[in-house]
Amino acid sequence: KLLCVKCDATLSQSVEFDISAPCVSPWTASYGLTDEQKEFQKVAFDFAANEMAPHMAEWDQKEVFPVEAMRKAAQLGFGGIYTRPEVGGSGLSRLDTSIIFEALSTGCVSTTAYISIHNMCAWMIDTFGNDEQRERFCPDLCSMEKFASYCLTEPGSGSDAASLLTSAQRKGDHYVLNGSKAFISGGGDTDVYVVMCRTGGKGPKGISCLVVEKGTPGLSFGKKEKKVGWNSQPTRAVIFEDCAVPATNRLGEEGQGFNIAMKGLNGGRINIASCSLGAAHASVLLARDHLLVRKQFGETLANSQFLQFKLAEMATKLVASRLLVREAATALQENRADAVSLCSMAKLFVTDECFNVCNQALQMHGGYGYLKDYAVQQFVRDIRVHQILEGTNEVMRMIISRNLLTES
Ligand SMILES: Cc1cc2nc3c(=O)[nH]c(=O)nc-3n(C[C@H](O)[C@H](O)[C@H](O)COP(=O)(O)OP(=O)(O)OC[C@H]3O[C@@H](n4cnc5c(N)ncnc54)[C@H](O)[C@@H]3O)c2cc1C
Repeated sequence: KLLCVKCDATLSQSVEFDISAPCVSPWTASYGLTDEQKEFQKVAFDFAANEMAPHMAEWDQKEVFPVEAMRKAAQLGFGGIYTRPEVGGSGLSRLDTSIIFEALSTGCVSTTAYISIHNMCAWMIDTFGNDEQRERFCPDLCSMEKFASYCLTEPGSGSDAASLLTSAQRKGDHYVLNGSKAFISGGGDTDVYVVMCRTGGKGPKGISCLVVEKGTPGLSFGKKEKKVGWNSQPTRAVIFEDCAVPATNRLGEEGQGFNIAMKGLNGGRINIASCSLGAAHASVLLARDHLLVRKQFGETLANSQFLQFKLAEMATKLVASRLLVREAATALQENRADAVSLCSMAKLFVTDECFNVCNQALQMHGGYGYLKDYAVQQFVRDIRVHQILEGTNEVMRMIISRNLLTES
């Protein structure tokens, strides 16, 4: 066993590292927060350390979707963090949400990222659904009795999401869906599918949003994808073949679906960036602890000025990333004019920088960083996809520059 030179806590360089141990306290992650925020941050860090970190390698390697652990998280209010309390949510702000997802991700990025998508779906139903829909779906989602998936991407429409082809033809009091969705997180294991589909002509204005429940005839799923990371959540195609969905399951008006999808993603992008923050946070601490105990050339690696400087750069990138995420979360909460750009900037900057931080942390572990016994490699694998999904980082650049070039 390795001991931390600072506080004598046991350092486990295995996947069972304890993020809440004194030597890995969340340092700057709590500065500037209110007492209430510090409290739920601690609850989330403790949950990450006790209920997630000990299992994160096993969930990854055995591809376990940890339903019971997520339900425990929901008991703490993490199933509908920014969903309204009347329908079972916690009614917290976007900043609060980011603080929670950052802390949870230190214990398992993949599971937290799924919880973040689930939260986004619950918020979409709460915000754009009518009272009957909110009461029907949200309480079970907030308790995570039921799980949700967000269905936008199709085999032929990824970055160009508005070109989606899944059709929903109105027949009496139902819509009949035909088409397929690709890469759906939770797909096959979840109960509620928030589906963007075409009810009208080409382009974004022809898109509507329907809630499709598992068990609906004509709804089926593709094979479970084999992935580099995010292995504690399944990813499958979602297939609709003459799938009749009650018209009462439509969120908002016909033609509003793309707008609803993008509104969901603004928050989703902050959430995913927050998950990258948690990974970088944990990786900086793992790297620091490794440098403090690993000896080469007769002294600890922590004595190398090159590695000291690298560590300083990593910590600086982490803190800069956190500031940007929190600024974007505040802008979204306040419905500010710069919110969409800031959410995109946060997603672009933070998922890129935090990936670099985790990758550098792996490098500092040398060969050990490449072994699955060490947690750092999983953080690298799990956050790589954050640069790709919920709008690629190239799409983030498009949004930021379009807003910049068109403002008067
Ligand atoms: C593990 C995983 C989980 C996912 N979960 C979900 C989910 O739950 N729900 C969902 O709806 N989707 C999900 N996705 C899909 C994800 O959002 C898409 O993969 C993503 O939007 C990119 O689409 P694409 O894969 O079709 O890539 P493409 O759109 O084909 O892009 C390929 C590359 O070209 C770049 N590119 C494209 N157009 C341009 C351009 N004009 N200029 C510059 N560069 C460009 C892209 O940025 C990218 O780098 C998931 C994906 C993965 C991998």
